[in-house]
Amino acid sequence: MSWDFGSWLYQQRADIDARWLAVVQKLPAYAALSADECLSYCQSLVDALLEDQTETLMEGVRQWADREVGERRATPSELLSIAEGLSQVIQDLLSAEGNLGQVNGRLNALDVALTQYFAGEVERLTAEKSRLEALHEITRELTASLDLGRVLHRTLAGVTTAITAEMGVVFLVDSAAGQVVPETAINWNSERIPVAVLPSAWRLGQADLPLVLSDLQTEQTEAWVKVLADPNMRSLMVAPLVANGAFMGLLAVASSRPEAFSPTHVRLFRTVLGQIATAIGNAEVYRLLTQQAQELGQMLRHQQEEATKSQAILTSIADGVIVNNAEGQTILVNPAAESILDMPGEQLIGQDFHALFSVFDARGREEAVAAMEALLGAVALEVEVRKAFQMTLEVDSRVVHAHLSPVLTQRGDFLGVVTVLRDITSEVEADRAKSEFVSNVSHELRTPMTAIKGYTDLLYAGAVGPVNDEQERFLAIIRNNADRLTALINDLLDISRVETGRLRFEPQPTQIGEVISDVVNVLAGQAEAKHQTLTYGVVGGLPDVMGDRDRLNQVLTNLVGNAVRYTPEGGEIEVRAYPVEGAVRVDVQDTGIGIATDDLGRIFERFYRADHPLVQEVGGSGLGLSIVKMFVEMHGGRVWVESEQDKGSTFTFILPVPVQVEGEGPGRRIPPCVMARARTILVVDDDPNAVNLARMQLENSGYRVFILGSGRSVVVWAEEKRPDLITLDLILPDVDGLEVLRDLKKNVATADIPVVVMSIRQDDGAAWGLGAADYLTKPVEGKDLLRSVEKALTWQGRVLIVDDDVDTLGLLSAAMRQIGFTSLVAADGYEALAMTRRYRPDLILLDLRLPGMDGYEALAHLKRDAVTQVIPIVAISAHVADTEQERKRLIASGAASFLPKPFSIEELLAEVESALQPVAGPTPG
Ligand code: ADP
Repeated sequence: MSWDFGSWLYQQRADIDARWLAVVQKLPAYAALSADECLSYCQSLVDALLEDQTETLMEGVRQWADREVGERRATPSELLSIAEGLSQVIQDLLSAEGNLGQVNGRLNALDVALTQYFAGEVERLTAEKSRLEALHEITRELTASLDLGRVLHRTLAGVTTAITAEMGVVFLVDSAAGQVVPETAINWNSERIPVAVLPSAWRLGQADLPLVLSDLQTEQTEAWVKVLADPNMRSLMVAPLVANGAFMGLLAVASSRPEAFSPTHVRLFRTVLGQIATAIGNAEVYRLLTQQAQELGQMLRHQQEEATKSQAILTSIADGVIVNNAEGQTILVNPAAESILDMPGEQLIGQDFHALFSVFDARGREEAVAAMEALLGAVALEVEVRKAFQMTLEVDSRVVHAHLSPVLTQRGDFLGVVTVLRDITSEVEADRAKSEFVSNVSHELRTPMTAIKGYTDLLYAGAVGPVNDEQERFLAIIRNNADRLTALINDLLDISRVETGRLRFEPQPTQIGEVISDVVNVLAGQAEAKHQTLTYGVVGGLPDVMGDRDRLNQVLTNLVGNAVRYTPEGGEIEVRAYPVEGAVRVDVQDTGIGIATDDLGRIFERFYRADHPLVQEVGGSGLGLSIVKMFVEMHGGRVWVESEQDKGSTFTFILPVPVQVEGEGPGRRIPPCVMARARTILVVDDDPNAVNLARMQLENSGYRVFILGSGRSVVVWAEEKRPDLITLDLILPDVDGLEVLRDLKKNVATADIPVVVMSIRQDDGAAWGLGAADYLTKPVEGKDLLRSVEKALTWQGRVLIVDDDVDTLGLLSAAMRQIGFTSLVAADGYEALAMTRRYRPDLILLDLRLPGMDGYEALAHLKRDAVTQVIPIVAISAHVADTEQERKRLIASGAASFLPKPFSIEELLAEVESALQPVAGPTPG
């Protein structure tokens, strides 16, 4: 009987299982399983060993291994351990029995089957590994470089190799041409393909499955595929490249073999597809970024170069340049400015502009600060920035010319202020040296001139023997010219004295009338010789001016002398002196040749003489008027001329009268807004009933009431006590109430006190004409009185009207009186300044076109002076091209409002009202 492996195994099964199980249960893949489970999973291995056919046995082993790898994730070494364990147990048992030879063949087949199985596995894994490596390589290529051309080529090479395709191509969309264009190719000659012929899903950017054609020779294809493919291609795989939902091109691979692409190839192709598309998208973004970065870089370089150039210019420029921003902070100081200011730039940068000007002398500093404030302030008010300012400043022993101008962009945005400083010390010194020289020469000339004149006079007087007629005529000519030369020398000396600061100037209280009469007396002979009438009129009680009598004499001599010389025979010359507010005014009027408009602006210049036959004939130096101007201005005055050719000229100058010290004379009025006390009302009435009623009514409303029963003492009382308002009965025991009203209005100290007339008489308009604020007919009701008083007090105020036109003056004062203002008048800017300082009006109506100092200049002065700055000013002008522009300009200069001529009374009152509105917003300083 032969030995049978199957029967043996059946008998030994329990023993075999026990031993074998010990091996299996130690393995990780089986450790968690029960003994039964382990045995049942390995049963098919035992079953395989029972197969008699080697081939079937091996197939059984392979199937077992496949299942254990697939289901239990058993590793090759675990499988080997299980198989070896089983073989070992069987061998052990059989060798003990001596029957081992019976099963050797089976056990060998088990070994071979497993070895073959593992060899197959290794091959499969190697293929997978190389696929992964290819993918990895492609991915690395795609992400490592942003150079699209290179990336695409290398990626394509990677893909074709991995897919074992011999040909490959990448197309990119050329949207301008509406085509896809071959970007990079391997063994592929393709033409451009119109986008329109491609599948619509592709064109719309839908990522789609690749189109795979296994044999181009047998399969039906669309027309565009024929364009794409070469005749030698058999297999073709093509798909759209889609990034961020946009169609970007095509990826295609091909092979000369049919059926060249397996599902693994297709998978790889699809993976690469998505990555290429993303890479193309990234590269596009990168290209845009690089391009922009390059452009920006170029711009920056250009700007840096420009900035360096500007910096170099600023550094090497000889003038000091300082820039302040719109907030007034210093943001740039060039080296020249540092040396002029003698201060390192760091000390100034970031500082307020006040620091900048701190080194200058007080007067210059004020002027520069005011200019800067005007430039910066114009911005704060959001109006047109004003023009440039110029001034001369002094630092230590140096003289600096400063030019401040606004910095504006092309759009007109205000950026700040640029100040250019130029050291003009050497110019000033040269000028001084010149003046010294002129002065020295003039002095030196005087001595010989004295000799010439003296000896001529002696000869002329016959001191050395008689002279005949002809000799006498010649001597007269010599004497005449010697006189002219002397006059010229004297003029030159005066000018150089003023310039070198050596002129003696000793002001003292002077009656200008006396000077006028002296001069007229001296020149009367000359006028008489020309049959001219030379007269003068001086208003009585003229106040003293503070003046240097010699200089004033010279001023008048030059003016009256000119009038005589430039007025033909028989003409008239009149000198007038009269008081104006805060000053004395002198007119020298003639009926002479007059001055042409073109010359008017220049006659005060040195050596300037009009081109007129009489002027040329008379001869002269052209220095007289410049001396007049210098001297008048030294007195704090002003001079100007009005003239009409062939009709005559009037030269006018004004000299200020010293301001009375506060507390003396008529007191200063306190502006209503700062009155903290109760308002006082003077009731002038002799009727006890009326008085009582008024007192009760007014006191109940918080006024302090004073009573006067007669008229004569009213003005004196009012002058001293300065009530805020007067109620005035017209029928008084001693004088007519209208007389009292007239006296009150005539007196500068009381003129502005509003007077409410209360009378039993019917209103005949007389009181209004005299300046009453209101007229109430008795019996007066308490509430009517109160309303009238209140109205008069609201509008109570002084207005200064500055206008040289008499008709306008009358109109303006009447209109202002109507609303309760008392008017003061001034005929020119200079007078306006003096009156404003003296009387502090509550409002100024300022005509801009004035003789002497014009309205613009007056406005600038008033706004610069801390005392007068707060007074609202209504600027008035008839000579305006663009009203709105002018209004902006004036408001920027500090005017409260602007009234273009002609205007209606309503317009005037509207502007006045707006000017009196309290101004909101920042206050200067
Ligand atoms: P001068 O009289 O020596 O020429 P001025 O400086 O006094 O020098 O005057 C300058 C010029 O002004 C004169 O040359 C003349 O053309 C003009 N001028 C001055 N006064 C009068 C006047 N009263 N009438 C006309 N022209 C005058």
